[in-house]
Amino acid sequence: MIKPQPFELKCTQCGWSKTFAPASDVLHPGQDLVASCPKCGNEELEHKAVGAVKGLLAEIRGKF
Ligand SMILES: [Zn+2]
Repeated sequence: MIKPQPFELKCTQCGWSKTFAPASDVLHPGQDLVASCPKCGNEELEHKAVGAVKGLLAEIRGKF
């Protein structure tokens, strides 16, 4: 089973952002995803995978 990658949605207009870490590969719209920015309603959200960075941070923390 492939573990879903956490990702971040960021609004390019007002700077709102939220990290989503789906528990399964099934996404529930309105719960695990938002179609538009809850602050300004912008629908052009930047979708960014954060798995690599978060994984790297966890790795660094484990060493100290
Ligand atoms: Zn916004």
